[in-house]
Amino acid sequence: MALAGIDFLPGPVLLLGAPGVGKGTQAQLLVTKYGIPQISTGDLLRGNIARGTELGLKAKEIMSSGHLVDDEIVNQMVLHRLQEKDTHRGYILDGYPRTLEQAKFLDHTIADPVYLPRLPVIAISIMVTYDQLLRRITGRRTCPSCKHIYNIYSNPPKVADVCDFDGTRLMQRTDDTKPVFIERMKTFDVQTAPVVAHYHDQGRFEEADGNQSVEVVNVAIEQAMLNLRSAFR
Ligand SMILES: [Zn+2]
Repeated sequence: MALAGIDFLPGPVLLLGAPGVGKGTQAQLLVTKYGIPQISTGDLLRGNIARGTELGLKAKEIMSSGHLVDDEIVNQMVLHRLQEKDTHRGYILDGYPRTLEQAKFLDHTIADPVYLPRLPVIAISIMVTYDQLLRRITGRRTCPSCKHIYNIYSNPPKVADVCDFDGTRLMQRTDDTKPVFIERMKTFDVQTAPVVAHYHDQGRFEEADGNQSVEVVNVAIEQAMLNLRSAFR
């Protein structure tokens, strides 16, 4: 398969995917291969607060009063982050833009030639079927002693409910249940739909089949990156 070499210029890549699709793993593979950073709003928020930046202090104040940090602060954190040199060949966006307003802000911002590389955002959504995702999440069991993670469907322990390594009884996280999964999926779909529509309408969106091994999914994502980047450079 003709995949991108390491000299390929990825540009800004937004990775989308419901909880449990393996987005984090895939993002890490791209980060390693292309030597570009992953930019996630969670990390930015924690980093700004830890360094005590002006934005971090503001965010901390809002959060300690029990509110959610607004678009304006998140946008400003991203804008500052994109001015750092390690983003010049591209970056993986994770959890941002989360709203249509953020997507428009980002498009507008990086159209300014001071932001490198001078490429628009391309968006790739890792798609896993509902049933598969349900099994991944409700089948998850963890060993409380050694933290090994099993899946009763795809990666079961040798003896049911018991850790292979230390014989400890496995546990299921209280939110790895079907009702919680259904709620989480609904929230995800509602939140993501406008962002997907935004990139889709401009032809800057592709889906990658996530119902496969990590390696095969990675190839599908890189193929999508190549397709989209050959149209948007
Ligand atoms: Zn164990």
